Amino acid sequence: MRSSSHGATTAAALVLAAAVAATLDTPGATVAPGAPARGAVTADGTRVIASAIRAGGPAAAPRPTTDTACTDHSYALNRWRISGTLTWYYNGTAAAPAVADTALPALTSASDTVATGINRCGEPATFTTVHAYGGEVGATAQISANGRCTGNDGKSVTSWGALPPGVLAYTCTYATQQGIVLTSDTLLDNRAHTWFTTRPQNCANAYDLETTLTHERLHTAGLAHVDQTANPDQVMTPASPPCETSRRTLGAGDYAGLAALAARG
Ligand SMILES: [Zn+2]
Repeated sequence: MRSSSHGATTAAALVLAAAVAATLDTPGATVAPGAPARGAVTADGTRVIASAIRAGGPAAAPRPTTDTACTDHSYALNRWRISGTLTWYYNGTAAAPAVADTALPALTSASDTVATGINRCGEPATFTTVHAYGGEVGATAQISANGRCTGNDGKSVTSWGALPPGVLAYTCTYATQQGIVLTSDTLLDNRAHTWFTTRPQNCANAYDLETTLTHERLHTAGLAHVDQTANPDQVMTPASPPCETSRRTLGAGDYAGLAALAARG
């Protein structure tokens, strides 16, 4: 997942790796665990990782009859964590119309879920990180329509724009060499997918904004993907099926991942 640094630079390495799983947004698609995709190196003392969540078709994540949310303790970690407070900003000017008026509370709720560890398993939500909402900004997430991290302006911005086919949301996280998050941008797709914040009756092919943002904030916090098939009830599966709201809060594995990160501090 890391590439070597240029000899002429400092030891600082900026690693660009897309944790994009080989999942497709077609029903019945074969699902594979996430794999690192590409790397790049600069010398600015930070590294950046890109992470996506893909839209899953109805058959992308067949659900077992037994809910494993609280019995499956699987998680995977990236190389960073949040120390203390990470302030995030919102730019809703290009929000998908269906959720333009309701997006911010859903985004805030998801951020708080990850900051403190709100879960479905009765575990205490006592993690001490803070995802502090800093207000609305004119800046946008520095993420391109083809899924590239395009820069770090020092602000963690969640905004809306175009993303590659099948991608619901994309996050670029910058961290120090010591693995402390500096900033993290998240771009939400406003072209290809239909969103909701309150699940509609007869929901057919729309995606829950809060669930998606919980997933992205877990990337920001330091979690990587688990296996779509083996760990279907954790938030950190690479793809998310439409119309699902059961993973707005954490499963046991997601929670255990945050606990492992907290133990590093
Ligand atoms: Zn993801």
